[in-house]
Amino acid sequence: MSETKTLLANCSFCARPNTEVGKLVAGPGVYICDTCVGLCNAVLADTPSGPPRPLPWQGDMTLDALLAMLPGYAAAGEQVERNLTECVRRARALGATWARIGEALGMTRQSAWERFSGEE
Ligand SMILES: [Zn+2]
Repeated sequence: MSETKTLLANCSFCARPNTEVGKLVAGPGVYICDTCVGLCNAVLADTPSGPPRPLPWQGDMTLDALLAMLPGYAAAGEQVERNLTECVRRARALGATWARIGEALGMTRQSAWERFSGEE
């Protein structure tokens, strides 16, 4: 019998949805699938310790390679923003004031309200 999965989130590394991966591990607004964890383990096993490598945009990537990365960065950022907004919505449903939400996020009550209330 096949298991039907509900679409919940996408891997923040390869963008595949949970419905297309074996397992998806959740972090704070980000996710990683079992395949990407496997790739990470292989990279870690083959990488000697040493100075940290530069972030992709700090290295010598070509313009085309950088532009090809932008959609993935944007999609991951949009997913984080959606998850953050849902967490704030849930905190509001549990009775959190905009002041407490702002304090938790290191912003003013007004900034929290403007960013998350959906009101203008
Ligand atoms: Zn993945």
